[in-house]
Order: sequence, then C-alpha cells, then structure tokens
Amino acid sequence: MSGQLDGKVALVTGGSRGIGAATARALAAEGASVAIGYAASREKAEAVVAQLEEYGVKAAAYRADQADPEEVARLVRTVAADFGRLDVLVNNAGVAVLGRTDDAEPDTAGLERQFAVNVGGVAAGIRAAAPLLGEGGRIISIGSNLAARPGMPGVADYAATKSALVGYTKGAARDLAPLGITVNLLQSGSVATDMNPEDGPSSDAQRAANALGRYGRPEEIAAGVVFLASPGASFVTGSVLTIDGGYLA
Ligand code: NDP
Repeated sequence: MSGQLDGKVALVTGGSRGIGAATARALAAEGASVAIGYAASREKAEAVVAQLEEYGVKAAAYRADQADPEEVARLVRTVAADFGRLDVLVNNAGVAVLGRTDDAEPDTAGLERQFAVNVGGVAAGIRAAAPLLGEGGRIISIGSNLAARPGMPGVADYAATKSALVGYTKGAARDLAPLGITVNLLQSGSVATDMNPEDGPSSDAQRAANALGRYGRPEEIAAGVVFLASPGASFVTGSVLTIDGGYLA
C-alpha cells in the first residue's frame, strides 16, 4: 500500500477511543506506523492496535498517564526506540470536567486535573519529542473551539485549558522551526465520542449552535490531523485549524 505517510512513525496520545482512535486509523491508512497511548482502556487500545495492523503497518499501545510529565516523556522516548524513529506527535488525550464558576463548592481538583492532562501532558510531550523528531517532524495538538468562544455555561475551566494550547502551540512553533518541526493546533467542535455523546444533556444545544446543525464524526477531525501531518502542510506552523461545523461562523 502506498500513502502520503509511508515510512513515517506517529504517536497518538489517547488513541484507545474517540477522536484519537479515528486519528490513529487515518494515519495508518496513509501508511504510517502508529503507536497509541492510553490511560485505563487497555482492551480498547489493543483492539485499536489490531485495526491498525490491518493496514499493514507496525502498531503498538502503551499505558502512560498524561498528567504525569515523566510518564509522558518515557512514552515518547519508548515509542521512538521501539519504532526506530518518530515523525508525528498527536497530542490528543484530554479530559473535560464541567462545572460553573459560581458553584458553591467548586471542583478545584477537576480544574487541576484538566490543566495537568490537557496542558501539562501536551507540554511534556512536546518537550520530549523536540529532540527526537528532526527535520520534517510534525506536532499536532487537539484543542477546542470553546477556547475561542465558550458559548455555554459550565465550560470555563475546560476552555481555559484549551486556550492555553493556543499560546503554547504558537510559542513552540517559534522554538522548533529552526529544527524543521512544525507545531499546529486543531480545534475540534462537537464530535460524538464518550466525552461528548450525541444524546447528552446539552447535545440539542450543541447541534443548534453550529452552522451545519449536527455533531461531527471522529473521522472528520482525523482528516484534519492527516492534512497537518502530510507533505502538503509543510508551510503550516503556529496555526489553528478549526473543524467545528461552523460553530464559530
Ligand atoms: P474521549 O473521552 O472519547 O477519549 C479520551 C482519550 O484520552 C482516551 O483514549 C483516554 O484513554 C485518553 N485519556 C484521558 N485521560 C488520559 C490520561 N490522563 N492519560 C492518558 N490518556 C488519557 O475523548 P474525545 O475523543 O472526545 O476527545 C479527544 C480530544 O479532543 C480531547 O483532547 C478533547 O478535549 C478534544 N475535544 C473533543 C471534543 C468532542 O466534542 N468530543 C470537542 C473539542 C475537543 P482511556 O481510554 O484509557 O481512558
């Protein structure tokens, strides 16, 4: 099989489910060997690995808590050693803890957890990958359109973590350009996953809030990641690509 990512090695964090699993499959379909990270879903991760191997590429799953910078660094180094190289890092793993800023008992642990996974995990991954990726390396993080417009109550903490990724992406793009590495952020809109099921309490409002009037599919986000990882995106860095059905339109 020939694809635009033949011979490349990609690591997708949070690849056991949802957008990460779809992204891993889309990268494999383009010929990349793919490692996935996960936290708890070992069986689901192994099932994704079996799907990836059907594309004729090397694949493996690794448990690593994105809230622990040392585990993230070990994950990145282990994947590069096991696969012989690393070309693409997709910082996809994330958590969302809803809660209003006027809650009588604010979930401060939830706030810290979101910053640890959604921001700390991304920063640790980028730092660990920077010396390993080399010329042509690609870093793609998954943000949220809620960073640009929260648009509903209860998402301030989550939106703040995703807003942090905008600045981190642009700063890292400046740092790593001399190494030939691009760094971009893909801001997703409402996509049907375990995190955001299509029959959840706010799902009607989410559908109504975007121009296309529907949830996205994980594959529609994965397609954007493939573009940012592809040779065609060689002049794209420090950018924010929003795929959200027109929520921000
Ligand atoms: P899911 O909840 O469906 O999947 C989350 C993935 O992240 C799982 O693979 C999970 O692993 C992994 N993960 C969670 N916490 C950790 C951790 N501490 N360490 C390692 N891995 C972890 O989420 P989605 O697919 O919906 O979301 C993927 C990304 O897209 C996230 O960054 C999210 O914020 C973002 N996003 C999603 C939107 C949506 O509407 N779905 C909208 C905008 C952005 P495990 O299975 O082992 O728990």
